[in-house]
Amino acid sequence: MGSKDMDLIDEDGKRLDGREYDELRPISIEAGVLKRADGSAFINWGKNKIMAAVYGPREMHPRHAQDPSKAVVQARYNMAAFSVPDRKRPGPDRRSVEIGKILSEALDEIIFVEQYPRSTIDVFIEVLEASAGTRCAGLTVASVALSDAGIPMSDMIASCAAGKIDGQVVLDLGKNEDNYGQADVPIGLVPRTDELTLLQMDGDLTEEEYEQAMELAMDACHDIYKKQKDALRERYSTDLEEQEFEEIPQEGIEEG
Ligand code: UDP
Repeated sequence: MGSKDMDLIDEDGKRLDGREYDELRPISIEAGVLKRADGSAFINWGKNKIMAAVYGPREMHPRHAQDPSKAVVQARYNMAAFSVPDRKRPGPDRRSVEIGKILSEALDEIIFVEQYPRSTIDVFIEVLEASAGTRCAGLTVASVALSDAGIPMSDMIASCAAGKIDGQVVLDLGKNEDNYGQADVPIGLVPRTDELTLLQMDGDLTEEEYEQAMELAMDACHDIYKKQKDALRERYSTDLEEQEFEEIPQEGIEEG
């Protein structure tokens, strides 16, 4: 959270990009976009573009890292060098290691990891374009990719942030709001049970503001959950249609 030196909300209560305080940026999700991964999905969230790919479950290497009682979920969060205005130095850094860790822990909560002892489930989250809120978009799209991979799970995780700008609690902070706002609270929600699998806070909120932020973010997660399910529905209904209308080879059939 940076110091405030620009107005983030105008006299009509509109934000820099014209949104209301409780409005998400536009979100679209597509499932099953990569051929060779076991599961995949792509998300466009505001100006964020993120790909998620899942490999596994497969035997964990090195062996000493295996857990005899369950699969180890390894989410790797990576920002492409060209994903941000100042070229991002390729490779892991403190921030991406932290995000990988918290996303792995969140996903471990929903996957039935006990079914796959000594295995690993790899989740690659590749940020191609970043504009604030990438951990939430990453967790949202990773859940869809895991479903696409057919990994047994209790539910998906829907994720988004709420925070404070110009003294007001708002949903889903954009880049300038993140830079010049006063607080950012990303959450990950299991919509069926309303359990939280991710909760972080950058900046300060009063108890009342925190309650408001949680309410905004949780409601939004339920909307995002619908988009996740729609993406999966779309993926599998399209496949069925393609199969149904697949052309029958015509070789050897003479006309007339
Ligand atoms: N960012 C950047 N360079 C970096 C890391 C982050 O420009 O090396 C930007 C990027 O747009 C990111 C935003 O800062 O989305 C906010 O980063 P934060 O650490 O708050 O995580 P996020 O909100 O993306 O989960």
